[in-house]
Amino acid sequence: MNFFDKLVKYGMPFVPKPIVGKVAQRYVAGEEIADAVAAIRELNAEGAMATVDVLGEEVTDPARAQAAVDQYLGLLDTIQAESIDANVSIKPTMLGLKIDEMMCRDHIGAIARRAAKIENFVRIDMEDHTCTDATLRIYRDLLAEVGHVGTVLQAYLHRTADDINDLLPLAPNIRLCKGIYREPRNIAWQQYETVRSNFIHTLEKLLSGGAYVGIATHDVHLVWAGMAAVDRLGLDREDYEFQMLLGVDPELRQIILDRGHRLRVYVPFGRDWYPYSMRRLRENPTVAHHVTRAILGLGPR
Ligand SMILES: Cc1cc2nc3c(=O)[nH]c(=O)nc-3n(C[C@H](O)[C@H](O)[C@H](O)COP(=O)(O)OP(=O)(O)OC[C@H]3O[C@@H](n4cnc5c(N)ncnc54)[C@H](O)[C@@H]3O)c2cc1C
Repeated sequence: MNFFDKLVKYGMPFVPKPIVGKVAQRYVAGEEIADAVAAIRELNAEGAMATVDVLGEEVTDPARAQAAVDQYLGLLDTIQAESIDANVSIKPTMLGLKIDEMMCRDHIGAIARRAAKIENFVRIDMEDHTCTDATLRIYRDLLAEVGHVGTVLQAYLHRTADDINDLLPLAPNIRLCKGIYREPRNIAWQQYETVRSNFIHTLEKLLSGGAYVGIATHDVHLVWAGMAAVDRLGLDREDYEFQMLLGVDPELRQIILDRGHRLRVYVPFGRDWYPYSMRRLRENPTVAHHVTRAILGLGPR
């Protein structure tokens, strides 16, 4: 990132919401379920699968957590009715983790049971480190009770290799990503190269230990490392998948598909798009260019 990009990155909280919305529209399918269905149809036509996220997090009102369950049940019904190739990703804090862990567990359980009924799947996203223990507890419980669930581990956390040791006997389904939240030094590796190295180390542990892995990255070096690892271990293409976010590097998406690997794209939709969009913009290495174009009233390029 050059100096101007860094300046805009740290100044993002002061950028007016309509400008953020304009720049971030590439990362979000739209506000309605029909927008998500349209985006998934396009991805399926390209040969990619999808995982759909209803935007929302940090819910403090139990009624809103219940409303999120209903949205996800409706979403699973829509996926089935529309015959699209997609599963769902959920955020525990949208389903009430910060209100009451047992309530959140029951909510995710209800979604997992509906997914099981239609042979679909629920990915439990991983949020900041205050959620890690509870998220893994809920995952273990629901894996034993319902199945059809997976979760996420973050390569920036010091604990991730230990978590893998604990989870491998369960033949887990794990999305491995770098991790997006700002975490303190005593919890997470801070250096780019160290996070990369730990991604490769933990990816190899998961793959060689028999886990199903969603290799979630746009970092070309890690995509290469993933391809090399599955080749070295002689894995079938059904034993893993690559995963990318909507709106990030469609050319890399095509390269992965052209190499014959399976690829799933994370498709968020909904009205509560602001926090997710801000996280994406913070990671965009050319954010200043896009913000400047939006301020000048020019379209995305
Ligand atoms: C499918 C999926 C699900 C995820 N789920 C979670 C989760 O549950 N919990 C969690 O903490 N994190 C999650 N993440 C986010 C992840 O932790 C990283 O923050 C994010 O993927 C960026 O890391 P990277 O590996 O792509 O590497 P980076 O080094 O950040 O990016 C590599 C390159 O990709 C491009 N790029 C990356 N981001 C952008 C962007 N926003 N706009 C434009 N270009 C970009 C740039 O060219 C960059 O140089 C998920 C990521 C993916 C792909």
